[in-house]
Amino acid sequence: MKDILQIIREADSVLIGAGSGLSTAAGIDYGGESFQREFKEFIEKYGFRDLYTSSFYDFATQEEYWAYWAKHIDFANTGREGTELYRKIYEAVKDKNYFVITTNVDDQFYKTGFDKDKIFRVQGSYRYIQCSNACHNKLYDDKDMVEEMLKNIDSDLKVPQKLVPICPVCGENMEPNLRKDGYFVEDELWDKQSDAYHHFLEENQEKKLVLFEFGAGFNTPTIIRFPFEKFTLQNQNWTLIRFNKDTSTFYDLGERYVPMNGDVTEIFKNI
Ligand SMILES: [Zn+2]
Repeated sequence: MKDILQIIREADSVLIGAGSGLSTAAGIDYGGESFQREFKEFIEKYGFRDLYTSSFYDFATQEEYWAYWAKHIDFANTGREGTELYRKIYEAVKDKNYFVITTNVDDQFYKTGFDKDKIFRVQGSYRYIQCSNACHNKLYDDKDMVEEMLKNIDSDLKVPQKLVPICPVCGENMEPNLRKDGYFVEDELWDKQSDAYHHFLEENQEKKLVLFEFGAGFNTPTIIRFPFEKFTLQNQNWTLIRFNKDTSTFYDLGERYVPMNGDVTEIFKNI
């Protein structure tokens, strides 16, 4: 196995691409014991099996919808601190010229020291809500709202009607800022960070860049997994390191590809 720190030391810049597998490895548990414990009443009422499938449930009322989502948002993001694994990755790259692109909506990169100007959060965040009709491109911080809701969920698993958020512009329902359909809101920060990402790619064309890809699978491969391979194919100075159980590639990248299918927490443990 190649020495990760050695690879980083020899690089001019580091591009991190992270998918859901990284948060799973970090211990954010979408279907195991802590989900079973925290969502016990919801599992009994709705038959939920894991946090991913439950997020597609069609709730009859907004009061029930928000009781569930307050719990979900708190569990995966606003009520959770930065995890050890993300901190270790930060420690490994912090002195380099780095940039992060992620499909994760749990904001772990924001909680573990990474510079917020160097993170492109493509698919949204649990931390923010938006108009469900996408009538305007502003996001609203939901942390306080979620805390208030959690204190007020009744025995029917509903929040009081007065806590249900309504779009201040058009009066429609609100929803978490997650890309699931054509109504996903990309606000000014999203545009700014998208530009920053493309600028980073541009300015590193002639540099020795290492692409660290963590847990990016085939749910949305066109955001990280496929482009990272293509970038590496096109640039002789760039090397791709893929942390995944499935280290298959579409292109033959020769020596500029390093597959890592071991336990990522083990690999970063001693950093
Ligand atoms: Zn609206």
